[in-house]
Amino acid sequence: MISTKGYAVSGPDAAFEPFNFERRDLGPADILIDILFCGVCHSDIHQARGEWGNSTYPMVPGHEIIGRVVKTGSDVTKFAEGDIAGIGCFVDSCRTCENCQAGYEQFCKVHWSATYNGTEMDRVSPTYGGYSKHYVVDEAYALRVSSEQPLANVAPLLCAGITTYSPLKRFNVRAGQKVGVVGLGGLGHMGVKFAVSMDADVTVFSTSPSKKSDALKLGAHHFVVTKDPENLIPFAATFDFILDTVSADHDLNAYLGLLKLNGVMVIVGIPTKPAEVQAFSLVVNNRSLVGSGIGGIPETQEMLDYCAEHNIFSDVEVIAMDRVPEAYERTINSDVRYRFVIDLQNF
Ligand code: NAP
Ligand code: ZN
Repeated sequence: MISTKGYAVSGPDAAFEPFNFERRDLGPADILIDILFCGVCHSDIHQARGEWGNSTYPMVPGHEIIGRVVKTGSDVTKFAEGDIAGIGCFVDSCRTCENCQAGYEQFCKVHWSATYNGTEMDRVSPTYGGYSKHYVVDEAYALRVSSEQPLANVAPLLCAGITTYSPLKRFNVRAGQKVGVVGLGGLGHMGVKFAVSMDADVTVFSTSPSKKSDALKLGAHHFVVTKDPENLIPFAATFDFILDTVSADHDLNAYLGLLKLNGVMVIVGIPTKPAEVQAFSLVVNNRSLVGSGIGGIPETQEMLDYCAEHNIFSDVEVIAMDRVPEAYERTINSDVRYRFVIDLQNF
């Protein structure tokens, strides 16, 4: 086994503490990576604090991982020592069910091996995430990243990037369409960048008036403060597509009412309480309300390559590990511009 260390919580109300643990020895298809950067996703907060009811402890969060390959198994072909590799929200799956075969490993019918707060394919061995020094992963579940890129800004693409890219692609968002992004946080700011790169006309719906100039700098064309519901009235039935990235409970009907004929609203934010949807909000204008969960390995690689080609990176605030608690508080208070990323090089 390979000894390593991380930062863990021992329960929903516990503080982060240093945590020593072991990674598995390298199998023939495994790579060992020395973690350089790890993004702080709001999903880390939901899970560390037990808000989704699926938490196991001790928990080392982190699923936006960028690292340097320092050792390779005997059969590894995709990576060489010194290469940069990324790890997203999962590290294994059955590889043979229809969803895995179709490139939707995140919905594996047999077992989804989450990067942390999960188990390996044996369903017993716990997985620990990227708030740590090393990771051992099968090369098939690691992503290729060019070392030429600003790596701290690439890390958030592994979750915030793919989660917003995937639905925009799936619904063929294109030039001239009116696209709304609800919530300007980690996911939201990536959604804006992608929609702008696809030449859509982009509106940010935000509870934070102070984010207006940032939204416009990110390329958004319009900014609407949602604290006063009256502000939404002029936009009724005008949007082709809305991406809802909000992490807290909020009224979906207010945004569904903004969709025009055959408009689609995609939920990617995962608040804790169930949302109420009025049938009329959907029936009028033949609207669709759908969900989207991260993305599979092929699409994640496609997204990373798309970002490299279009110069799309996350706007980040780089922090040392001991500032994770502060980053959690600021993220919860919508005070993140627009992703905290932990620098693990000196951890
Ligand atoms: P984040 O950085 O905290 O951004 C969430 C944004 O939502 C905030 O910046 C804020 O934007 C807005 N917001 C917060 N509280 C609100 C409230 N009470 N009412 C209205 N708006 C509010 O979080 P994130 O990392 O982007 O993650 C967002 C959500 O997506 C989380 O629930 C996360 O678990 C989920 N997620 C889902 C997937 C998936 O596969 N579907 C993947 C990753 C994350 P404004 O200041 O602009 O209002
Ligand atoms: Zn995430």
